[in-house]
Amino acid sequence: MKAAAADTAARAALDAGAADTTAPQAWPFSTTGDAALVLAAMGAAPDGILLVDRQGCIVMANTAMEEISGYSADELCGSPLGLLLPSPLREAHVHHFQSYFNAPSRRPMGMGRNLWIARKDGRLTPVDIALGYTEAQGGTAVAFVRDISAVRRLEAQMHFQATHDTLTGLVNRWQFGQQLEHAIAESTRTGQPFALLLLDLDDFKAVNDGYGHAAGDRVLLEVARRLKGALRPGDTLARLGGDEFTVLLPQVAHAQEVEAAAGRLLQALCQPYQMHGFELDSGASLGIAMCPGDAQDAATLLRYADMAMYHAKEAGRAQYAFYEPRLGLRMAEKLQLHERLKLALAYDGLKLHYQPQVDVATGEIQAVEALLRWHDPQLGEVPPDRFIPVAEATGLILALGAWVLDAACQQIAAWVDAGTPLRIAINLSVQQLRQADLVEQVERSLARHNAPPGLLEVEVTETQAMADPEQARAVLCRLQALGVCIALDDFGTGHSSLAYLKQLPVSRIKIDREFVHPLLQSPEDATFVRAIIVLAQTLELHVVAEGVETAEQLGMLAQYGCDAYQGWLFSRAVPAAHIAQLLRAQRETPSDEAPLRLE
Ligand code: C2E
Ligand code: CA
Ligand code: CA
Repeated sequence: MKAAAADTAARAALDAGAADTTAPQAWPFSTTGDAALVLAAMGAAPDGILLVDRQGCIVMANTAMEEISGYSADELCGSPLGLLLPSPLREAHVHHFQSYFNAPSRRPMGMGRNLWIARKDGRLTPVDIALGYTEAQGGTAVAFVRDISAVRRLEAQMHFQATHDTLTGLVNRWQFGQQLEHAIAESTRTGQPFALLLLDLDDFKAVNDGYGHAAGDRVLLEVARRLKGALRPGDTLARLGGDEFTVLLPQVAHAQEVEAAAGRLLQALCQPYQMHGFELDSGASLGIAMCPGDAQDAATLLRYADMAMYHAKEAGRAQYAFYEPRLGLRMAEKLQLHERLKLALAYDGLKLHYQPQVDVATGEIQAVEALLRWHDPQLGEVPPDRFIPVAEATGLILALGAWVLDAACQQIAAWVDAGTPLRIAINLSVQQLRQADLVEQVERSLARHNAPPGLLEVEVTETQAMADPEQARAVLCRLQALGVCIALDDFGTGHSSLAYLKQLPVSRIKIDREFVHPLLQSPEDATFVRAIIVLAQTLELHVVAEGVETAEQLGMLAQYGCDAYQGWLFSRAVPAAHIAQLLRAQRETPSDEAPLRLE
Protein backbone atom coordinates (compact mmCIF):
# COMPACT_ATOMS: atom_id res chain seq x y z
CA MET A 1 0.00 0.00 0.00
CA LYS A 2 2.89 2.19 0.90
CA ALA A 3 4.15 4.83 -1.50
CA ALA A 4 1.50 4.50 -4.13
CA ALA A 5 2.03 8.04 -5.31
CA ALA A 6 5.73 7.52 -5.26
CA ASP A 7 5.35 4.40 -7.33
CA THR A 8 3.49 6.19 -10.05
CA ALA A 9 6.00 9.04 -10.09
CA ALA A 10 8.89 6.64 -10.00
CA ARG A 11 7.54 4.54 -12.80
CA ALA A 12 7.17 7.66 -14.88
CA ALA A 13 10.69 8.67 -13.97
CA LEU A 14 11.96 5.21 -14.81
CA ASP A 15 10.09 5.07 -18.08
CA ALA A 16 11.48 8.43 -19.05
CA GLY A 17 14.88 7.33 -17.77
CA ALA A 18 14.88 4.67 -20.46
CA ALA A 19 15.41 7.44 -22.95
CA ASP A 20 17.83 9.39 -20.79
CA THR A 21 21.07 10.14 -22.56
CA THR A 22 23.06 11.65 -19.70
CA ALA A 23 23.80 8.36 -17.98
CA PRO A 24 23.16 5.47 -20.34
CA GLN A 25 25.64 3.05 -18.77
CA ALA A 26 24.33 3.62 -15.24
CA TRP A 27 20.80 2.89 -16.27
CA PRO A 28 20.73 -0.68 -17.56
CA PHE A 29 16.94 -1.06 -17.87
CA SER A 30 15.53 -0.58 -21.27
CA THR A 31 11.94 -1.74 -20.93
CA THR A 32 9.10 -0.81 -18.68
CA GLY A 33 8.86 -4.44 -17.61
CA ASP A 34 11.99 -3.94 -15.59
CA ALA A 35 10.35 -1.16 -13.56
CA ALA A 36 8.99 -3.54 -10.90
CA LEU A 37 12.42 -5.02 -10.39
CA VAL A 38 13.99 -1.59 -10.16
CA LEU A 39 11.43 -0.50 -7.59
CA ALA A 40 12.09 -3.60 -5.55
CA ALA A 41 15.82 -2.91 -5.73
CA MET A 42 15.25 0.67 -4.54
CA GLY A 43 13.17 -0.64 -1.68
CA ALA A 44 16.00 -2.97 -0.71
CA ALA A 45 18.71 -0.28 -0.99
CA PRO A 46 20.52 0.35 2.32
CA ASP A 47 20.74 4.11 1.57
CA GLY A 48 17.83 6.48 1.24
CA ILE A 49 16.95 7.45 -2.33
CA LEU A 50 15.05 10.65 -3.15
CA LEU A 51 13.97 11.85 -6.53
CA VAL A 52 13.37 15.62 -6.64
CA ASP A 53 11.97 17.62 -9.54
CA ARG A 54 13.11 20.95 -10.86
CA GLN A 55 10.67 22.76 -8.59
CA GLY A 56 12.25 21.23 -5.52
CA CYS A 57 9.39 18.85 -4.98
CA ILE A 58 10.00 15.28 -3.83
CA VAL A 59 8.66 12.82 -6.40
CA MET A 60 9.84 9.56 -4.95
CA ALA A 61 11.35 8.20 -1.70
CA ASN A 62 12.36 4.63 -0.93
CA THR A 63 12.00 2.62 2.29
CA ALA A 64 15.41 3.55 3.67
CA MET A 65 14.48 7.23 3.25
CA GLU A 66 11.39 6.64 5.37
CA GLU A 67 13.58 5.22 8.13
CA ILE A 68 16.09 8.05 7.96
CA SER A 69 13.47 10.82 7.97
CA GLY A 70 10.70 9.32 10.06
CA TYR A 71 8.18 10.38 7.37
CA SER A 72 6.25 7.88 5.29
CA ALA A 73 6.82 7.89 1.53
CA ASP A 74 3.29 9.25 1.13
CA GLU A 75 4.14 12.20 3.35
CA LEU A 76 7.37 12.82 1.52
CA CYS A 77 6.08 12.61 -2.01
CA GLY A 78 4.65 15.89 -3.14
CA SER A 79 6.31 17.78 -0.28
CA PRO A 80 8.96 20.39 -0.90
CA LEU A 81 12.51 19.20 -0.26
CA GLY A 82 12.71 21.89 2.42
CA LEU A 83 10.68 19.56 4.64
CA LEU A 84 13.85 17.54 5.23
CA LEU A 85 16.19 20.47 5.74
CA PRO A 86 17.10 22.03 9.10
CA SER A 87 15.14 25.30 9.15
CA PRO A 88 18.16 27.69 9.14
CA LEU A 89 19.36 26.12 5.89
CA ARG A 90 16.11 26.15 3.97
CA GLU A 91 16.49 29.50 2.28
CA ALA A 92 20.11 29.05 1.28
CA HIS A 93 19.31 25.61 -0.05
CA VAL A 94 16.70 26.90 -2.51
CA HIS A 95 19.48 28.90 -4.12
CA HIS A 96 21.91 25.93 -4.19
CA PHE A 97 19.20 23.74 -5.59
CA GLN A 98 18.47 26.08 -8.48
CA SER A 99 22.09 26.46 -9.41
CA TYR A 100 22.43 22.67 -9.29
CA PHE A 101 19.76 22.33 -11.98
CA ASN A 102 21.56 24.91 -14.12
CA ALA A 103 24.67 22.71 -14.19
CA PRO A 104 23.69 19.26 -12.93
CA SER A 105 26.52 16.92 -12.07
CA ARG A 106 27.18 13.76 -10.15
CA ARG A 107 28.65 13.95 -6.73
CA PRO A 108 29.85 10.86 -4.84
CA MET A 109 29.49 10.31 -1.09
CA GLY A 110 31.97 11.93 1.24
CA MET A 111 32.09 15.29 -0.56
CA GLY A 112 29.67 17.33 1.48
CA ARG A 113 30.51 18.16 5.08
CA ASN A 114 28.15 18.35 8.05
CA LEU A 115 24.93 17.51 6.25
CA TRP A 116 21.83 17.02 8.31
CA ILE A 117 18.29 15.78 7.72
CA ALA A 118 15.51 17.20 9.86
CA ARG A 119 13.43 14.23 11.01
CA LYS A 120 9.71 14.31 11.51
CA ASP A 121 10.23 14.17 15.29
CA GLY A 122 12.37 17.32 15.11
CA ARG A 123 15.71 15.59 15.70
CA LEU A 124 18.56 16.09 13.26
CA THR A 125 20.22 13.07 11.66
CA PRO A 126 23.75 13.45 10.30
CA VAL A 127 23.85 12.20 6.71
CA ASP A 128 26.13 11.89 3.76
CA ILE A 129 24.58 12.60 0.34
CA ALA A 130 25.56 11.54 -3.17
CA LEU A 131 23.89 13.27 -6.09
CA GLY A 132 22.89 12.14 -9.56
CA TYR A 133 20.73 13.67 -12.27
CA THR A 134 18.41 12.50 -14.98
CA GLU A 135 16.69 14.49 -17.76
CA ALA A 136 13.53 12.45 -17.13
CA GLN A 137 10.40 14.50 -16.56
CA GLY A 138 12.11 17.71 -17.50
CA GLY A 139 15.03 17.12 -15.12
CA THR A 140 15.07 15.12 -11.91
CA ALA A 141 17.72 15.16 -9.21
CA VAL A 142 18.49 11.84 -7.51
CA ALA A 143 19.84 12.05 -3.97
CA PHE A 144 21.32 9.02 -2.25
CA VAL A 145 21.14 9.66 1.46
CA ARG A 146 23.18 7.69 4.01
CA ASP A 147 22.56 7.84 7.76
CA ILE A 148 25.99 8.34 9.34
CA SER A 149 24.88 8.68 12.99
CA ALA A 150 26.91 5.63 14.00
CA VAL A 151 30.02 6.97 12.26
CA ARG A 152 29.57 10.36 13.91
CA ARG A 153 29.13 8.74 17.32
CA LEU A 154 32.30 6.75 16.82
CA GLU A 155 34.14 9.88 15.69
CA ALA A 156 32.91 11.77 18.73
CA GLN A 157 33.96 8.90 20.96
CA MET A 158 37.41 8.77 19.37
CA HIS A 159 37.76 12.52 19.66
CA PHE A 160 36.81 12.34 23.34
CA GLN A 161 39.29 9.56 23.94
CA ALA A 162 42.05 11.48 22.21
CA THR A 163 41.37 14.65 24.18
CA HIS A 164 40.35 13.32 27.60
CA ASP A 165 41.88 11.29 30.35
CA THR A 166 40.40 7.78 30.44
CA LEU A 167 40.33 7.46 34.22
CA THR A 168 38.92 10.82 35.31
CA GLY A 169 37.24 12.02 32.11
CA LEU A 170 39.08 15.33 32.51
CA VAL A 171 40.76 17.13 29.62
CA ASN A 172 44.10 15.41 28.89
CA ARG A 173 47.60 16.80 28.41
CA TRP A 174 47.23 17.23 24.64
CA GLN A 175 43.91 19.02 24.80
CA PHE A 176 45.10 21.14 27.70
CA GLY A 177 48.07 22.21 25.54
CA GLN A 178 45.59 23.38 22.88
CA GLN A 179 43.55 25.31 25.40
CA LEU A 180 46.66 26.84 26.92
CA GLU A 181 47.79 28.04 23.47
CA HIS A 182 44.33 29.47 22.92
CA ALA A 183 44.39 31.23 26.31
CA ILE A 184 47.82 32.71 25.55
CA ALA A 185 46.57 34.04 22.21
CA GLU A 186 43.45 35.50 23.88
CA SER A 187 45.46 37.10 26.64
CA THR A 188 47.92 38.60 24.16
CA ARG A 189 45.01 40.01 22.13
CA THR A 190 42.95 41.39 25.02
CA GLY A 191 45.68 42.12 27.56
CA GLN A 192 43.68 40.17 30.19
CA PRO A 193 45.98 38.09 32.42
CA PHE A 194 45.24 34.45 33.22
CA ALA A 195 46.73 32.02 35.74
CA LEU A 196 48.16 28.57 35.15
CA LEU A 197 48.01 26.35 38.24
CA LEU A 198 49.94 23.10 38.50
CA LEU A 199 48.91 20.73 41.25
CA ASP A 200 50.72 17.61 42.40
CA LEU A 201 49.51 15.25 45.11
CA ASP A 202 51.84 14.86 48.10
CA ASP A 203 53.28 11.35 48.47
CA PHE A 204 50.89 9.84 45.94
CA LYS A 205 53.50 7.26 44.99
CA ALA A 206 53.28 5.92 48.52
CA VAL A 207 49.49 5.49 48.12
CA ASN A 208 50.02 3.51 44.92
CA ASP A 209 52.86 1.46 46.34
CA GLY A 210 51.26 0.91 49.71
CA TYR A 211 47.64 0.27 48.80
CA GLY A 212 47.77 -0.80 45.17
CA HIS A 213 46.83 0.86 41.90
CA ALA A 214 43.09 0.33 42.35
CA ALA A 215 43.21 2.44 45.54
CA GLY A 216 45.40 4.98 43.71
CA ASP A 217 42.81 5.22 40.93
CA ARG A 218 40.01 5.73 43.43
CA VAL A 219 41.95 8.58 45.05
CA LEU A 220 42.59 10.19 41.64
CA LEU A 221 38.90 9.98 40.73
CA GLU A 222 37.93 11.57 44.02
CA VAL A 223 40.60 14.25 43.59
CA ALA A 224 39.17 15.09 40.14
CA ARG A 225 35.66 15.29 41.58
CA ARG A 226 36.70 17.56 44.45
CA LEU A 227 38.78 19.85 42.25
CA LYS A 228 35.90 20.22 39.79
CA GLY A 229 33.67 21.17 42.67
CA ALA A 230 36.07 23.91 43.78
CA LEU A 231 36.25 25.64 40.37
CA ARG A 232 34.12 28.18 38.52
CA PRO A 233 32.26 27.14 35.34
CA GLY A 234 34.71 28.88 32.97
CA ASP A 235 37.86 27.37 34.51
CA THR A 236 39.60 24.46 32.80
CA LEU A 237 40.71 21.44 34.80
CA ALA A 238 42.98 18.85 33.22
CA ARG A 239 44.95 15.80 34.28
CA LEU A 240 48.41 15.86 32.81
CA GLY A 241 49.13 12.29 33.87
CA GLY A 242 50.01 10.47 37.08
CA ASP A 243 49.04 12.65 40.02
CA GLU A 244 49.55 15.94 38.19
CA PHE A 245 46.59 18.20 37.53
CA THR A 246 46.44 21.65 35.94
CA VAL A 247 43.93 24.45 36.08
CA LEU A 248 43.49 27.46 33.80
CA LEU A 249 41.88 30.42 35.50
CA PRO A 250 40.92 32.79 32.69
CA GLN A 251 40.64 36.55 33.06
CA VAL A 252 41.94 37.16 36.54
CA ALA A 253 41.90 40.75 37.66
CA HIS A 254 43.88 40.41 40.93
CA ALA A 255 46.41 38.04 42.46
CA GLN A 256 43.95 37.66 45.37
CA GLU A 257 41.52 35.93 43.02
CA VAL A 258 44.16 33.34 42.18
CA GLU A 259 45.08 32.97 45.84
CA ALA A 260 41.45 32.38 46.74
CA ALA A 261 41.10 29.72 44.02
CA ALA A 262 44.36 28.03 45.08
CA GLY A 263 43.19 28.02 48.68
CA ARG A 264 39.85 26.47 47.70
CA LEU A 265 41.55 23.74 45.64
CA LEU A 266 43.97 22.80 48.42
CA GLN A 267 41.21 22.93 50.99
CA ALA A 268 39.11 20.55 48.88
CA LEU A 269 41.91 17.98 49.05
CA CYS A 270 42.53 18.31 52.80
CA GLN A 271 39.84 15.88 53.91
CA PRO A 272 40.94 12.24 54.11
CA TYR A 273 39.79 9.86 51.37
CA GLN A 274 37.36 7.18 52.46
CA MET A 275 38.50 3.85 51.10
CA HIS A 276 36.80 0.54 51.69
CA GLY A 277 37.29 0.23 55.40
CA PHE A 278 40.07 2.77 55.89
CA GLU A 279 40.98 6.41 55.37
CA LEU A 280 43.80 7.85 53.29
CA ASP A 281 45.42 11.27 53.49
CA SER A 282 46.96 12.91 50.48
CA GLY A 283 47.19 16.67 50.34
CA ALA A 284 48.60 18.52 47.36
CA SER A 285 51.10 21.23 46.50
CA LEU A 286 50.30 23.90 44.00
CA GLY A 287 52.48 26.13 41.80
CA ILE A 288 51.20 29.19 39.95
CA ALA A 289 52.50 31.03 36.87
CA MET A 290 50.82 34.12 35.41
CA CYS A 291 50.46 35.03 31.75
CA PRO A 292 51.56 37.47 30.38
CA GLY A 293 53.41 38.60 33.56
CA ASP A 294 55.71 35.59 33.99
CA ALA A 295 55.88 34.26 30.42
CA GLN A 296 53.95 34.26 27.16
CA ASP A 297 54.57 30.77 25.87
CA ALA A 298 53.14 27.46 26.99
CA ALA A 299 56.38 25.59 27.66
CA THR A 300 57.84 28.35 29.85
CA LEU A 301 54.60 28.88 31.74
CA LEU A 302 54.41 25.17 32.55
CA ARG A 303 58.05 25.08 33.61
CA TYR A 304 57.57 28.10 35.89
CA ALA A 305 54.42 26.65 37.44
CA ASP A 306 56.38 23.45 38.02
CA MET A 307 59.21 25.35 39.76
CA ALA A 308 56.70 27.14 41.95
CA MET A 309 55.07 23.80 42.74
CA TYR A 310 58.38 22.32 43.92
CA HIS A 311 58.97 25.40 46.01
CA ALA A 312 55.53 24.89 47.58
CA LYS A 313 56.31 21.23 48.27
CA GLU A 314 59.45 22.19 50.13
CA ALA A 315 57.55 24.64 52.25
CA GLY A 316 55.52 21.71 53.60
CA ARG A 317 52.32 19.98 52.73
CA ALA A 318 49.21 21.63 51.31
CA GLN A 319 50.91 24.86 50.24
CA TYR A 320 50.76 27.00 47.14
CA ALA A 321 53.44 29.29 45.70
CA PHE A 322 53.66 31.82 42.88
CA TYR A 323 56.54 31.67 40.43
CA GLU A 324 59.31 34.17 41.15
CA PRO A 325 62.45 34.67 39.06
CA ARG A 326 64.72 33.71 42.00
CA LEU A 327 63.19 30.22 41.99
CA GLY A 328 65.02 29.52 38.74
CA LEU A 329 68.35 30.08 40.39
CA ARG A 330 67.48 27.97 43.40
CA MET A 331 66.17 25.26 41.14
CA ALA A 332 69.47 25.14 39.27
CA GLU A 333 71.34 24.80 42.58
CA LYS A 334 69.07 22.01 43.66
CA LEU A 335 69.39 20.18 40.38
CA GLN A 336 73.14 20.34 40.80
CA LEU A 337 72.89 19.04 44.38
CA HIS A 338 70.61 16.25 43.18
CA GLU A 339 72.98 15.23 40.39
CA ARG A 340 76.05 15.29 42.64
CA LEU A 341 74.21 13.41 45.37
CA LYS A 342 73.26 10.68 42.89
CA LEU A 343 76.94 10.37 41.98
CA ALA A 344 77.94 10.24 45.64
CA LEU A 345 75.45 7.44 46.21
CA ALA A 346 76.74 5.49 43.21
CA TYR A 347 80.44 6.05 43.89
CA ASP A 348 80.64 5.62 47.63
CA GLY A 349 80.85 9.32 48.43
CA LEU A 350 78.62 9.10 51.52
CA LYS A 351 79.60 8.18 55.05
CA LEU A 352 77.81 7.62 58.29
CA HIS A 353 79.06 9.36 61.39
CA TYR A 354 77.84 8.33 64.80
CA GLN A 355 76.85 10.54 67.71
CA PRO A 356 76.82 8.85 71.13
CA GLN A 357 73.77 8.78 73.36
CA VAL A 358 75.03 8.80 76.91
CA ASP A 359 73.42 7.46 80.06
CA VAL A 360 72.89 10.49 82.33
CA ALA A 361 73.38 8.47 85.53
CA THR A 362 76.45 6.39 84.58
CA GLY A 363 78.03 8.48 81.82
CA GLU A 364 78.26 5.42 79.61
CA ILE A 365 77.54 5.32 75.90
CA GLN A 366 74.33 3.34 75.49
CA ALA A 367 73.72 3.88 71.80
CA VAL A 368 74.66 6.04 68.82
CA GLU A 369 72.66 7.94 66.22
CA ALA A 370 73.84 7.48 62.63
CA LEU A 371 74.04 10.80 60.80
CA LEU A 372 74.78 11.14 57.09
CA ARG A 373 77.92 12.96 56.02
CA TRP A 374 78.67 13.98 52.44
CA HIS A 375 81.92 15.43 51.24
CA ASP A 376 81.66 16.33 47.56
CA PRO A 377 84.87 16.94 45.57
CA GLN A 378 83.33 20.05 43.96
CA LEU A 379 80.92 21.35 46.59
CA GLY A 380 82.94 20.43 49.67
CA GLU A 381 81.17 19.41 52.88
CA VAL A 382 77.39 19.56 52.33
CA PRO A 383 75.35 19.46 55.56
CA PRO A 384 72.32 17.12 55.73
CA ASP A 385 70.02 20.07 56.32
CA ARG A 386 70.83 21.12 52.76
CA PHE A 387 70.80 17.83 50.90
CA ILE A 388 68.10 15.87 52.77
CA PRO A 389 65.31 18.27 51.67
CA VAL A 390 66.50 18.03 48.05
CA ALA A 391 66.59 14.24 48.28
CA GLU A 392 63.08 14.33 49.76
CA ALA A 393 61.79 16.56 46.96
CA THR A 394 63.31 14.43 44.19
CA GLY A 395 62.55 11.03 45.66
CA LEU A 396 66.25 10.19 45.97
CA ILE A 397 65.67 9.89 49.71
CA LEU A 398 64.44 6.32 49.22
CA ALA A 399 67.75 5.16 47.72
CA LEU A 400 69.62 7.25 50.29
CA GLY A 401 67.59 5.78 53.16
CA ALA A 402 68.17 2.25 51.89
CA TRP A 403 71.90 2.94 51.80
CA VAL A 404 71.87 4.28 55.39
CA LEU A 405 69.90 1.27 56.60
CA ASP A 406 72.32 -1.14 55.02
CA ALA A 407 75.44 0.70 56.19
CA ALA A 408 74.08 0.84 59.75
CA CYS A 409 73.32 -2.92 59.78
CA GLN A 410 76.82 -3.59 58.54
CA GLN A 411 78.24 -1.45 61.35
CA ILE A 412 76.05 -3.14 63.97
CA ALA A 413 77.45 -6.51 62.88
CA ALA A 414 81.02 -5.18 62.89
CA TRP A 415 80.69 -3.96 66.48
CA VAL A 416 79.09 -7.24 67.56
CA ASP A 417 82.03 -9.09 66.00
CA ALA A 418 84.47 -6.77 67.78
CA GLY A 419 82.86 -7.66 71.09
CA THR A 420 81.45 -4.15 71.63
CA PRO A 421 77.79 -4.46 70.62
CA LEU A 422 76.06 -1.09 70.40
CA ARG A 423 72.61 0.03 69.33
CA ILE A 424 72.50 2.28 66.25
CA ALA A 425 69.58 4.64 65.62
CA ILE A 426 68.87 5.65 62.03
CA ASN A 427 66.62 8.46 60.82
CA LEU A 428 63.67 7.43 58.66
CA SER A 429 62.18 9.94 56.24
CA VAL A 430 58.43 10.20 55.83
CA GLN A 431 58.66 8.70 52.35
CA GLN A 432 60.49 5.67 53.67
CA LEU A 433 57.86 5.22 56.32
CA ARG A 434 55.21 5.09 53.58
CA GLN A 435 57.11 2.60 51.46
CA ALA A 436 55.11 -0.61 51.13
CA ASP A 437 58.14 -2.84 51.55
CA LEU A 438 59.98 -0.92 54.29
CA VAL A 439 59.64 -3.73 56.82
CA GLU A 440 60.94 -6.31 54.32
CA GLN A 441 63.83 -3.96 53.48
CA VAL A 442 64.80 -3.73 57.14
CA GLU A 443 64.50 -7.48 57.52
CA ARG A 444 66.70 -8.09 54.48
CA SER A 445 69.41 -5.65 55.58
CA LEU A 446 69.52 -7.15 59.07
CA ALA A 447 69.73 -10.66 57.63
CA ARG A 448 72.33 -9.75 55.00
CA HIS A 449 74.77 -8.63 57.71
CA ASN A 450 73.54 -10.97 60.38
CA ALA A 451 72.83 -8.00 62.66
CA PRO A 452 70.65 -8.55 65.79
CA PRO A 453 67.38 -6.59 65.27
CA GLY A 454 67.46 -5.35 68.87
CA LEU A 455 70.55 -3.29 68.06
CA LEU A 456 68.74 -1.32 65.37
CA GLU A 457 66.56 1.64 66.26
CA VAL A 458 64.54 3.77 63.86
CA GLU A 459 63.85 7.41 64.60
CA VAL A 460 60.67 8.87 63.21
CA THR A 461 59.66 12.42 63.92
CA GLU A 462 56.46 13.14 65.74
CA THR A 463 55.15 15.07 62.70
CA GLN A 464 55.91 12.12 60.44
CA ALA A 465 54.07 9.70 62.68
CA MET A 466 51.10 12.09 62.82
CA ALA A 467 50.89 12.61 59.04
CA ASP A 468 49.08 9.30 58.57
CA PRO A 469 48.70 7.87 62.08
CA GLU A 470 47.06 4.58 61.07
CA GLN A 471 49.64 3.75 58.48
CA ALA A 472 52.54 4.83 60.72
CA ARG A 473 51.22 2.70 63.56
CA ALA A 474 50.85 -0.36 61.33
CA VAL A 475 54.40 -0.09 59.97
CA LEU A 476 55.95 0.64 63.36
CA CYS A 477 54.15 -2.31 64.92
CA ARG A 478 55.55 -4.61 62.25
CA LEU A 479 59.06 -3.21 62.84
CA GLN A 480 58.65 -3.73 66.55
CA ALA A 481 57.57 -7.30 65.92
CA LEU A 482 60.90 -7.82 64.16
CA GLY A 483 62.63 -6.73 67.36
CA VAL A 484 63.64 -3.29 66.08
CA CYS A 485 63.40 -0.37 68.57
CA ILE A 486 61.48 2.79 67.77
CA ALA A 487 62.23 6.33 68.92
CA LEU A 488 60.12 9.45 68.44
CA ASP A 489 62.48 12.16 67.16
CA ASP A 490 62.26 15.95 67.62
CA PHE A 491 59.65 15.46 70.31
CA GLY A 492 57.78 18.59 71.32
CA THR A 493 57.80 20.20 67.89
CA GLY A 494 54.66 18.40 66.71
CA HIS A 495 51.23 18.23 68.23
CA SER A 496 50.77 14.61 69.09
CA SER A 497 48.18 13.86 71.70
CA LEU A 498 48.97 11.77 74.71
CA ALA A 499 46.25 9.31 73.73
CA TYR A 500 47.87 8.80 70.37
CA LEU A 501 51.36 8.47 71.78
CA LYS A 502 50.15 5.60 73.92
CA GLN A 503 49.05 3.67 70.85
CA LEU A 504 52.45 3.82 69.16
CA PRO A 505 54.96 1.07 69.84
CA VAL A 506 57.60 3.61 70.86
CA SER A 507 60.34 2.80 73.36
CA ARG A 508 62.10 6.16 73.45
CA ILE A 509 61.35 9.83 72.91
CA LYS A 510 63.98 12.38 71.97
CA ILE A 511 63.44 15.91 73.23
CA ASP A 512 64.26 18.34 70.44
CA ARG A 513 67.30 20.55 70.96
CA GLU A 514 65.07 23.57 70.39
CA PHE A 515 63.85 23.05 74.01
CA VAL A 516 67.16 21.91 75.47
CA HIS A 517 69.09 24.89 74.17
CA PRO A 518 67.23 27.60 76.16
CA LEU A 519 66.82 25.39 79.24
CA LEU A 520 68.64 27.77 81.59
CA GLN A 521 67.30 31.03 80.21
CA SER A 522 63.67 30.17 79.71
CA PRO A 523 61.56 28.89 82.62
CA GLU A 524 58.76 27.99 80.13
CA ASP A 525 61.07 25.69 78.20
CA ALA A 526 62.38 24.20 81.44
CA THR A 527 58.82 23.48 82.54
CA PHE A 528 58.05 21.97 79.17
CA VAL A 529 61.09 19.68 79.25
CA ARG A 530 60.23 18.60 82.78
CA ALA A 531 56.65 17.87 81.72
CA ILE A 532 57.85 15.73 78.81
CA ILE A 533 60.08 13.74 81.16
CA VAL A 534 57.22 13.18 83.62
CA LEU A 535 54.96 12.17 80.76
CA ALA A 536 57.55 9.74 79.45
CA GLN A 537 57.99 8.21 82.89
CA THR A 538 54.24 7.74 83.20
CA LEU A 539 54.19 5.93 79.88
CA GLU A 540 57.35 4.02 80.83
CA LEU A 541 59.32 5.44 77.92
CA HIS A 542 63.01 6.35 77.91
CA VAL A 543 63.90 9.98 77.29
CA VAL A 544 66.93 11.22 75.37
CA ALA A 545 67.65 14.95 75.38
CA GLU A 546 69.20 16.21 72.14
CA GLY A 547 71.68 19.03 71.57
CA VAL A 548 73.19 19.14 75.06
CA GLU A 549 76.11 21.55 74.81
CA THR A 550 76.86 22.56 78.42
CA ALA A 551 77.39 20.90 81.75
CA GLU A 552 74.68 23.18 83.20
CA GLN A 553 72.13 21.86 80.75
CA LEU A 554 73.15 18.32 81.62
CA GLY A 555 72.89 19.11 85.33
CA MET A 556 69.32 20.30 84.95
CA LEU A 557 68.35 17.30 82.83
CA ALA A 558 69.81 14.98 85.48
CA GLN A 559 67.78 16.78 88.10
CA TYR A 560 64.57 16.28 86.06
CA GLY A 561 65.29 12.55 85.77
CA CYS A 562 66.21 12.47 82.07
CA ASP A 563 67.60 9.03 81.10
CA ALA A 564 70.13 9.87 78.39
CA TYR A 565 71.54 12.75 76.43
CA GLN A 566 73.15 13.43 73.10
CA GLY A 567 75.13 16.53 72.20
CA TRP A 568 78.41 18.30 71.60
CA LEU A 569 79.08 18.34 75.33
CA PHE A 570 79.98 14.68 75.04
CA SER A 571 80.78 14.30 71.36
CA ARG A 572 79.85 15.42 67.89
CA ALA A 573 78.98 12.77 65.32
CA VAL A 574 82.26 10.98 64.59
CA PRO A 575 83.45 8.10 62.35
CA ALA A 576 82.87 4.54 63.55
CA ALA A 577 86.56 4.08 64.44
CA HIS A 578 86.34 6.91 67.00
CA ILE A 579 83.30 5.31 68.58
CA ALA A 580 85.21 2.03 68.89
CA GLN A 581 87.98 3.94 70.62
CA LEU A 582 85.48 5.55 73.01
CA LEU A 583 83.94 2.17 73.79
CA ARG A 584 87.31 0.59 74.52
CA ALA A 585 88.28 3.49 76.75
CA GLN A 586 84.94 3.26 78.53
CA ARG A 587 85.54 -0.42 79.29
CA GLU A 588 88.93 0.36 80.76
CA THR A 589 87.72 3.39 82.76
CA PRO A 590 86.46 2.57 86.26
CA SER A 591 82.89 3.82 86.54
CA ASP A 592 83.59 6.39 89.32
CA GLU A 593 86.02 8.30 87.08
CA ALA A 594 84.74 11.06 84.81
CA PRO A 595 83.68 9.63 81.45
CA LEU A 596 85.93 10.27 78.47
CA ARG A 597 84.78 12.92 76.04
CA LEU A 598 85.59 13.44 72.41
CA GLU A 599 85.64 17.01 71.18
P1 C2E B 1 68.34 15.15 63.75
O1 C2E B 1 67.84 13.79 63.51
O2 C2E B 1 67.61 15.96 64.75
O3 C2E B 1 69.85 14.97 64.12
C1 C2E B 1 70.47 15.66 65.10
C2 C2E B 1 71.17 16.83 64.55
O4 C2E B 1 71.61 17.66 65.62
C3 C2E B 1 72.42 16.46 63.80
O5 C2E B 1 72.61 17.41 62.75
C4 C2E B 1 73.51 16.64 64.83
O6 C2E B 1 74.79 16.84 64.28
C5 C2E B 1 73.00 17.87 65.52
N1 C2E B 1 73.56 18.02 66.86
C6 C2E B 1 73.94 17.02 67.69
N2 C2E B 1 74.37 17.50 68.85
C7 C2E B 1 74.26 18.86 68.79
C8 C2E B 1 74.53 19.92 69.69
O7 C2E B 1 74.98 19.73 70.82
N3 C2E B 1 74.25 21.17 69.28
C9 C2E B 1 73.77 21.43 68.05
N4 C2E B 1 73.53 22.71 67.70
N5 C2E B 1 73.50 20.45 67.16
C10 C2E B 1 73.72 19.17 67.53
P2 C2E B 1 72.96 16.96 61.32
O8 C2E B 1 73.87 15.80 61.33
O9 C2E B 1 73.33 18.19 60.59
O10 C2E B 1 71.59 16.44 60.80
C11 C2E B 1 70.55 17.29 60.61
C12 C2E B 1 69.31 16.56 60.28
O11 C2E B 1 69.44 15.87 59.03
C13 C2E B 1 69.01 15.46 61.27
O12 C2E B 1 68.39 15.98 62.37
C14 C2E B 1 68.10 14.57 60.46
O13 C2E B 1 66.80 15.10 60.45
C15 C2E B 1 68.67 14.71 59.06
N6 C2E B 1 69.49 13.54 58.79
C16 C2E B 1 70.79 13.31 59.06
N7 C2E B 1 71.14 12.09 58.65
C17 C2E B 1 70.04 11.51 58.11
C18 C2E B 1 69.75 10.25 57.52
O14 C2E B 1 70.59 9.35 57.45
N8 C2E B 1 68.48 10.04 57.05
C19 C2E B 1 67.51 10.99 57.17
N9 C2E B 1 66.31 10.72 56.70
N10 C2E B 1 67.75 12.18 57.72
C20 C2E B 1 68.99 12.45 58.20
CA1 CA C 1 67.38 12.01 64.60
CA1 CA D 1 66.32 15.11 66.37
